Amino acid sequence: MSERSPKVIIAGSGPAGYTAAIYLSRANLPNLLFEGLQPGGQLTITTDVENFPGFPEGIMGPELMEKLRAQAARFGTVIEAGTVDAVDCQGPPFKVTAGGRTYTVPAVIVATGSTARYLHLPGEDAFHGKGLSACATCDGFFYRDQDVVVVGGGDTALEEATYLSGICRKVTLVHRRDELRGSAIMQQRAFAKPNIELAWSRTIEAYLPDAQGMLRGVRLRSTKGEPPIEVACTGCFIAIGHDPNTAFLAGQLQLDANGYLVTKPDRTMTSVEGIFACGDVQDPVWRQGVTAAGTGCMAAIECERWLFAKGL
Ligand code: NDP
Repeated sequence: MSERSPKVIIAGSGPAGYTAAIYLSRANLPNLLFEGLQPGGQLTITTDVENFPGFPEGIMGPELMEKLRAQAARFGTVIEAGTVDAVDCQGPPFKVTAGGRTYTVPAVIVATGSTARYLHLPGEDAFHGKGLSACATCDGFFYRDQDVVVVGGGDTALEEATYLSGICRKVTLVHRRDELRGSAIMQQRAFAKPNIELAWSRTIEAYLPDAQGMLRGVRLRSTKGEPPIEVACTGCFIAIGHDPNTAFLAGQLQLDANGYLVTKPDRTMTSVEGIFACGDVQDPVWRQGVTAAGTGCMAAIECERWLFAKGL
């Protein structure tokens, strides 16, 4: 397939992008997939994936993504390192700038996922690599037998806190309300850990450096008018959600109020015909590996039918 010029360019290599690729290739539509900044997407920075159907014992995130990649490659998807830098959405055809080249294709599938959010406190950037992280699986090891803080009240925060509780001495989970958003089972798992403490109705107001600029603690503001407190920690994990990755589209496609790509009801077509979106970049609600894969399948089938109907 590599000698044929691509009909579809896929941006992104998470479950959505690879599933779209598998379906396109099996439908004999030449497609080219750009892996993006984080090949394999967010599942490569998680540990055990226990809820992807077909793996009763669970599977490690990176291994699952390697399997999806191999499956796409097996059917002929051409996979390139690098990012899609720009799409001229005046089309079809669309001009796609990626990997230093410009391609002209009748259809594009956007599967660029979303990126972890930080708090954007003054001086926050200085703590990257010096105690601040958004990925317990990646960085937890560095804080073995130390005290850490996790910020957030959703499933990600609970998962990170539970994971870190097995590595660190103490984990303080900081949540801005007095009620968690995360699912009951994740709450139970976290509450069962004796070394997880909850700091309810608090947010970080300052990161505290030691003499070397490394994190030594955080100052927590109360959202209920209580006095601030300081918590000693060498690691701080931010787990407050994600932002969809759409900057390369330069505002040419319709976004919702939170920046997610808008697709037509029950479909994957974006506001521009011929550009389809799947996975977390268009999903503010479900955000699961399996739903991303599901919408990747939808995008490929819809794309194929659309190309056929248009005779492209
Ligand atoms: P969520 O949007 O579910 O939760 C974000 C959390 O961060 C909320 O508790 C929110 O507070 C808090 N928050 C947001 N902004 C700030 C801020 N500026 N300061 C302080 N706190 C803030 O995101 P998640 O990443 O946790 O989860 C996303 C999706 O992925 C969910 O659907 C979740 O179920 C799923 N998921 C599933 C997992 C699994 O099943 N294994 C693991 C991880 C995620 P508030 O509650 O007040 O809004």
